Amino acid sequence: MKSYQVDENGFYGRFGGSYIPEILYKTVENLKENYLPIIESEEFQAEYRQLLRDYVGRPSPLYYAKRMSERYGCKLFLKREDLNHTGAHKINNAIGQILIAKKMGKTRIVAETGAGQHGVATATVCALMDMPCRVYMGALDVQRQRPNVERMKMLGAEVFPVESGNKTLKDATSEAIRDWCCHPSDTFYIIGSTVGPHPYPDMVARLQSIISEEIKWQLQDKIGRDYPDYLMACVGGGSNAAGTIYHYIDDERVKLVLGEAGGLGYETAKTAASMTIGTVGILHGSRIKLMQTEDGQIIEPYSISAGLDYPGTGPIHCNLHEQGRAMVIPINDDEALRAAFELTRLEGIIPALESSHALAMLPRMKHLFSPDDVVVLTVSGRGDKDMETYLKAFKQFG
Ligand SMILES: *Cc1c(COP(=O)(O)O)cnc(C)c1O
Repeated sequence: MKSYQVDENGFYGRFGGSYIPEILYKTVENLKENYLPIIESEEFQAEYRQLLRDYVGRPSPLYYAKRMSERYGCKLFLKREDLNHTGAHKINNAIGQILIAKKMGKTRIVAETGAGQHGVATATVCALMDMPCRVYMGALDVQRQRPNVERMKMLGAEVFPVESGNKTLKDATSEAIRDWCCHPSDTFYIIGSTVGPHPYPDMVARLQSIISEEIKWQLQDKIGRDYPDYLMACVGGGSNAAGTIYHYIDDERVKLVLGEAGGLGYETAKTAASMTIGTVGILHGSRIKLMQTEDGQIIEPYSISAGLDYPGTGPIHCNLHEQGRAMVIPINDDEALRAAFELTRLEGIIPALESSHALAMLPRMKHLFSPDDVVVLTVSGRGDKDMETYLKAFKQFG
């Protein structure tokens, strides 16, 4: 049977792989040999699941959103990753990777962060496990995301502002990789999304797959059937979407719908819709769709949402899109803002701006829904961090 999971060489169709400098070869090989035996071991599973339950607060609820369902003419369930400790799905992955780092005898952690959500999740698990932690963050993002910088510092992490390039996520990621190259034997690089060289996309997808594992039994409990008609999620690098679809990826009864950041419009220069307008290239160790000039220089992305502001998309989703397995919809800033206010007023839930890109697909999809269709949409995070942006938009959308 055809599968959309990773193949034995680390590829998803023509995407993925491991394009790394020679100095990292042994380190990445070592991770490749060890991540599956570790994740599948009884010892890892016991510790990982205990922390997800007692520390993160899982399972996250699958909430039937009655008023939103009425509005969109379907049965809409929200997967509430916004209720996790630290406010988003990122902690599922950070906990898993730090346990893997410990099992592999690593003593130092580095990470990259854009909006600061992955940085906070990593600093949190480093405090928990008593590991030194350095977080690379673009100097511009350090200014824009003050509260998260302060949280990381309080948690004991060293936040390193990156002054190169555009001073945002892409530059922070490049700098984290440079650090890793200098300390390959003692340092573990905790990547925050389904990006980077193989085995990272597969490892991160597995660590986030707890989301779809729970959706299966929660749907069985609620509707007597363990699969939905539609799964919907936003995509930056792709980790919350990968977790949401993991156990359904090869189940063609389930339609997959992904929202990427259109910015001011995918046909403008101000966009981050890399699957819609990108071309194939290599970034941060992986062959993906990315926004680049004809000579392969990265075009700086733009989105109102810092968590979706990345010039590429991970290989899993590039392949699902190219194969026609997933529908990909670019969502513009104003649509995301409207969706955030709608969910807040109809259900009393303030979503993260990233998650609002998933919610904003509902009006686009409404004409395809029938009243019995079961739709599961992942709310990847909560909106506390975005209050300043929401208040600015209040006059127009509130
Ligand atoms: C980081 C982030 C995203 C985007 O990352 P993915 O890896 O695509 O999930 C989405 N939502 C929230 C709340 C985030 O913090």
